[in-house]
Amino acid sequence: MVLDGKVAIVTGSSRGIGRAVALALAKAGANVVVNYAGRADAANQTAAEIEQLGRRALVIKADVADTEQVKSMVDETLKELGRLDILVNNAGITRDNLIMRMKDQDWDAVLNTNLKGAFNCCRAVARPMLKSKGGRIVNISSVVGLMGNAGQVNYSAAKAGIIGLTKTLAAELGSRKITVNAVAPGFITTEMTDGLPPEVKERLIERVPLGRLGAPEEIADTVTFLCGPAAGYITGQVIAVDGGMTTVMK
Ligand code: NAP
Repeated sequence: MVLDGKVAIVTGSSRGIGRAVALALAKAGANVVVNYAGRADAANQTAAEIEQLGRRALVIKADVADTEQVKSMVDETLKELGRLDILVNNAGITRDNLIMRMKDQDWDAVLNTNLKGAFNCCRAVARPMLKSKGGRIVNISSVVGLMGNAGQVNYSAAKAGIIGLTKTLAAELGSRKITVNAVAPGFITTEMTDGLPPEVKERLIERVPLGRLGAPEEIADTVTFLCGPAAGYITGQVIAVDGGMTTVMK
């Protein structure tokens, strides 16, 4: 298997896209750190499924926005699993509102989790990856970081920030064989989108050339490719996995 013996941290892998990524990396051979913020039940369930695949799973509660908690997560990974090859920055939240109604705490919460969280994790893994002269970092952005979206000024800014972070780190870390790429999902069926009213979902689907929402596994497949040997010469890229939404007129 292409990721045999590799160790991956997937932030926010208790549910949704992160969970699908953790399982896909495990299927490809990796041992996986299942990180979560509050839902221990869901994290333990993901870990149990990874272990059923014959891989090791390490469940770690850590708020990615908290520098010290992230450092401890990386230290614990190295201590328990012995190495660190892959980081997938997936943890994310939304606090949507139009700008006139957006509160400071909603701006701060989204920027702290979605952008500073990714920065914290990249900084914490940089040293072990530089030391081992190799690594893969995949950051989960969003189509709204490419296009903007009314009602999501905080989330769009964070997801656009992820793209700048990705390109800069690709430049900083490339000489040590560490690739850094971003995946920009379109609208994917998870708890994050479950709450959208049916008419909003219908309007979104109308904008998607492939005519449907995406599945978490479809994001996981792209992430797994970027973490594997077939993607060794790809870095600094943003790959939209969005049913054609951002590139095709419909
Ligand atoms: P989700 O179902 O709401 O899951 C979010 C995950 O992030 C959960 O595992 C949650 O942990 C974790 N998390 C939240 N805050 C955290 C924190 N401070 N520290 C550590 N973990 C934290 O979301 P999703 O739809 O799978 O989205 C995953 C990623 O894809 C996000 O970055 C999102 O912005 C991006 N994305 C999603 C879509 C979409 O349509 N769904 C589209 C584009 C991009 P707990 O279970 O413990 O709460």
